[in-house]
Amino acid sequence: MDEVYTFKEAARLRLTKAELGGKGYGLVEMTRIGLPVPPGIVITTKMCNKYFKEKKLWESIKEKILAKMKEIEHETGKRFASTDNTLLVSVRSGAPLSMPGMMDTVLNLGINDEIAEAIARRYGEKFAYDTYRRFIQLFATIVLKIDKKPFDEALEEEKRNEGRDESSLSGEAMKRLASKYKSIVERSSKKPLEQDPYKQLFMAIGAIFESWWNKRAVEYRKIYNIPDSMGTAVNIVAMVYGNLNERSGTGVAFTRDPSTGEKKIYAEVLMNAQGEDVVSGKRTPMPIEELRKKLPNVYTELVSTCKKLEKYFKDMQDIEFTIEDGKFYMLQTRNGKRSPQAALRIAIDMVKEKLISEKDALLRISPDDLDKLLHKQVDKRFANEPIATGLPASPGAASGKAVFDIEKAVEAKKKGESIILVRVETTPDDIKGIAISDGILTSRGGMTSHAAVVTRGMGKPCIVGSNIEISKENNSFTSNGFTIREGEEITIDGTDGKVYKGSIPLIEPKLGKDINTILRWADKHRRLGIRANADTPEMVKLAIENGAEGIGLARTERMFTSPERLDLVRKMILADTKEERKKYLEMIKPLQKEDFKKMFDLANGKPLTIRLIDMPLHEFLPKLEELIKEECRLKEEGKSKELEELEKVISKVMELRESNPMMGQRGVRLGIVYSEIYDMQVRAILEAAIELAKRGKKVKPEIMISQVAIANELAKAKEIVYNAAEDTFKKLGKRVSFKFGTMIETPRAALTGGEIAKYADFFSFGTNDLTQATFAFSRDDIEAKFMPFYLDNKILPSDPFAKLDTFGVGRLISMCADEGKSANKNLEVGVCGEHGGDPDSIEFFNAAKVDYVSMSPHRIPVAKLAAARASISGEKNRTV
Ligand code: PEP
Ligand code: MG
Repeated sequence: MDEVYTFKEAARLRLTKAELGGKGYGLVEMTRIGLPVPPGIVITTKMCNKYFKEKKLWESIKEKILAKMKEIEHETGKRFASTDNTLLVSVRSGAPLSMPGMMDTVLNLGINDEIAEAIARRYGEKFAYDTYRRFIQLFATIVLKIDKKPFDEALEEEKRNEGRDESSLSGEAMKRLASKYKSIVERSSKKPLEQDPYKQLFMAIGAIFESWWNKRAVEYRKIYNIPDSMGTAVNIVAMVYGNLNERSGTGVAFTRDPSTGEKKIYAEVLMNAQGEDVVSGKRTPMPIEELRKKLPNVYTELVSTCKKLEKYFKDMQDIEFTIEDGKFYMLQTRNGKRSPQAALRIAIDMVKEKLISEKDALLRISPDDLDKLLHKQVDKRFANEPIATGLPASPGAASGKAVFDIEKAVEAKKKGESIILVRVETTPDDIKGIAISDGILTSRGGMTSHAAVVTRGMGKPCIVGSNIEISKENNSFTSNGFTIREGEEITIDGTDGKVYKGSIPLIEPKLGKDINTILRWADKHRRLGIRANADTPEMVKLAIENGAEGIGLARTERMFTSPERLDLVRKMILADTKEERKKYLEMIKPLQKEDFKKMFDLANGKPLTIRLIDMPLHEFLPKLEELIKEECRLKEEGKSKELEELEKVISKVMELRESNPMMGQRGVRLGIVYSEIYDMQVRAILEAAIELAKRGKKVKPEIMISQVAIANELAKAKEIVYNAAEDTFKKLGKRVSFKFGTMIETPRAALTGGEIAKYADFFSFGTNDLTQATFAFSRDDIEAKFMPFYLDNKILPSDPFAKLDTFGVGRLISMCADEGKSANKNLEVGVCGEHGGDPDSIEFFNAAKVDYVSMSPHRIPVAKLAAARASISGEKNRTV
């Protein structure tokens, strides 16, 4: 079926956003609730995909469009392709997910020489030819793919001729422009401008569908992971004219401040103008207060419309409106893009206003938003006077080299430099440069300009409308008597709009009040427990401060990194006999015990999962090449005694060397063969725990074994651990209860979870090693080798070491958790690999039988939010 509907029909049929696209959906819903929307038609996204197959508009859809145009004529009382009371339309794209400014719109379509003359007779030359020249330029650039430059040059020439700005050009100038534009079209396309309004319409619809594949739209979809298969809808809307007279205008508004979230309408209006003029940032708009003075009725209608929209959509809206001779029309509404800070504020305020629930609020804030909020600020103690001040378009601060050109920015980024992209204004073509820059500074444009909207979404610092003078010839800008050349460092603060010379120290953000509210709600609504990976007392402290409910992984081998400890550990590894090894272990034990005591103390009764030694030997053995260099030196210097010692070390290192150390004698394979190591560690842990318990402190030790592949390995490890424990309890005359468990990080362990669970109180998935072993990809090497190729060529959807491969590794996890819990109903299941802190992976763990996730301390807030969102979405899916 050919899916072409009038807005009224689509409202009756309750068509979805996926079918209507975002713009169409907003227009249809506004029509439903009785807001003043000009009549229009929407061609669904499904038709876009059909168009790509057919490669043209097919006859039956053309007929349907014409039939619907008749209905629009009827509703407006105007006629398309007629010189009498002419109906002109806009043809607009609209994808289901918002892609601001990425795709195209043709305004004033249906006009030609004859109609322009008729309009001139009725409304005057200026309006008629302003409308015509705008149409010609849009039709030429979007439909006929003619370069924009000659049009801009012709406009500049007229502005110079008359010594006026664009909106004040005379009727004659507009007429001359229309004629010049027509010549440009004829010259470039070797054909006169299409005069048949119906042909114009069909050509424009095709071009809008095709704009789905324009470079900047493709690039945008890639950055935001929007599937190519989604397609765009096309909206054909009866034109209303913001450029009709001085009582006309056009504007954009956010129902709340998109930068701070404050509950006040943020609007920008241009009188006697059309929509493109605001969005492009070419003219600086007037603030809403002026509108209140000029057209008080329109102002009141705008305010009440914003209220109605928020009540209906239950979210902050980003709207476009037009005023035609004092009458207010709505042309667009969509959920407004906002800074992460505003996202939090708005969600919290809307809960207070009883518009949404706490759960809805949590679903409104993406983990990414929260992550961005943990953003930097300029440390004002070190800042001089700012050299410029602009509009604070997107919060956060950044320092970097000023770069004026997109390609140069990309090059500099490749060299690892920090970049502030400085532009007069940005356009969707700049998206690649914006995405890689650390911050954006523009000289022109308002809070709704392209740069502002895009960077806010990306959570990148941005200042717009700073009025700096950019010299393209000299690659520099000047402001307040300062000149900044390309490559010089500047600092921008997108929170207050200040620009500084030089690189100013930045302060890391702290958890603010709004973040705390969100985290409190997240704690209330999440199912998954949140622990942290922390190897030192300092990290345990940070983890607990950040809200961890326990430590899910303390890697004991990471406690050996200081030079003195490393030396002892090396000596222990290189020892020839058990006795010698024990001697070094006895020296290591008090150091470990002291750390454990501090860690238990800080954990303050929360579980502390301590993993017994798991070192790939190559990380701890002295490097053979260095030993050999040393050997040469000693030989040259004739130091035979030292040489003899060194040669012993070399031969031991050679003996211990492994071809595949990651699969070598590590973890349980080391611990059960050299049981004295486990023995020492268990004693250090339990002695520390008992000493604190004797002082009345609560302790919850959990002893964890790594690298297990065989149930018998764990059984053996358990015997060693419990023997050491019993002996310690006897010697110290006190028992503490502890849990004994294992990491699941080898595929064989995951495949035999039911067996292994018989020996464990808990499992903790080591998803780093489990990913490595399941793929047989070396976790330390792939980034620099084949992974970029795999991602570029879509062989893998994402890096499996960052985002869990739910299809493969995830399947092992689900199966193992199920079988483990069936075999041992008290089994607790956690995740302690890097994936434990990744929001998408958390969604998977929430659905699997996982009880808690553990991640580095700084990822805790984001993980809490992600866990709550996963629980809430999970509940919603179950009730659907
Ligand atoms: C793992 O493998 O996921 C893990 C947590 O252990 P490590 O990273 O120390 O190997
Ligand atoms: Mg591991």
